[in-house]
Amino acid sequence: MSSHAITSSRMQTLFLSSQDIAQIVRKLGMRDSLTEMAEIIRENYLHWNDFDKSARLAIYSLYGVIELMPIADATHYSFKYVNGHPGNTHLGLPTVMALGALADIDTGYVRLLSELTFTTALRTAATSAVAARALARPDSRCMALIGNGAQSEFQALAFYYLLGVRSLHIFDTDPAASEKLKHNLRAIGLDQSCLDIVICPSAEQALQGADIVTTITADQSQSRVFDAELVRPGMHINAVGGDSPGKTELDPRVLQQGRVFVEFEPQTRIEGEIQQMPADFPVTELWKVLTGQAPGRQSANEVSIFDSVGFALEDFSALRFMYDKAHALGLGVSVSISPTLTNPKDLFGRLGLQSMETCTASVLEH
Ligand code: NAD
Repeated sequence: MSSHAITSSRMQTLFLSSQDIAQIVRKLGMRDSLTEMAEIIRENYLHWNDFDKSARLAIYSLYGVIELMPIADATHYSFKYVNGHPGNTHLGLPTVMALGALADIDTGYVRLLSELTFTTALRTAATSAVAARALARPDSRCMALIGNGAQSEFQALAFYYLLGVRSLHIFDTDPAASEKLKHNLRAIGLDQSCLDIVICPSAEQALQGADIVTTITADQSQSRVFDAELVRPGMHINAVGGDSPGKTELDPRVLQQGRVFVEFEPQTRIEGEIQQMPADFPVTELWKVLTGQAPGRQSANEVSIFDSVGFALEDFSALRFMYDKAHALGLGVSVSISPTLTNPKDLFGRLGLQSMETCTASVLEH
């Protein structure tokens, strides 16, 4: 994408619907979508200091949260609008829905408006994989996946393709969600010989023999999705579902069993599992591990915990990725979000009102 000055003839915004995003993923395939998404996220984490970053702006209610997530580098600005409403599935709506925009920093012109619901699931799974590749034991093959809702297939596949996980122990308080997860993974051709999938009756059973534990549940409460005593030496815990104040998944004792890694510390202190810990509880930002400025896993017995809440840099990466793919594949439609003006100072003239208005004087006479 060019960031040079734009002429009025190029002033079009690309709109990508959820159908367009689904088509991109179908054309690329899940393996390549996740692999390429993970790579662009990792690349951008390597350029951490090039980004103008802030914690997201959240409005909390009894039902959930609605957040705005802005970020920019020297050439582009992006934001995501995203909600998290754990009760939504009872209303026939997803827990998480999102949209976003990508703009040129030099003019503010919006280049892309996109759905980000599918895209968030992809980027979250890709981010989990980027973190796990730096933090989990390289010989990790078995993952417990607690919470088998909308995000779960994406997580399962990111760990299958990018980490080499070959066995999944899945658990959800809603058994139908686990059946759906297993069915969806089998339906895309991952049979027993590729991926062993065991539906477990409890989180405790799911954690038996697991090298990696992914928690991606939705509950508007301070949950304890598994007992702290179940953590084994060498485990990597990918805690993704606890992502706003009062909405956590881990017993605080889990956080004391290993080193904790976060995306953007000021945001995670408010929203992550570490909201349960003192303000000086030590954490390491992921970018420092990826750039080699801080150690990741230091021994096979160490417990690592990725306290993920989702950061704007991941959505920035995802928007750039989808924009480039849509162009390459000829997908999406051009929309006129801003009026095209022959004279940029004559906004009013573009309304075309002249011949439609009656004289003010005659209106006042009545
Ligand atoms: P979802 O509602 O589709 O699925 C959540 C599942 O968790 C449901 O099937 C529910 O039955 C299950 N569940 C709830 N409590 C449980 C428990 N104690 N044990 C086992 N299962 C339990 O939601 P989703 O879209 O899959 O999102 C899951 C969570 O991930 C949400 O909390 C969301 O806010 C969070 N999320 C985080 C990020 C991030 O970047 N960190 C990104 C997207 C979503």
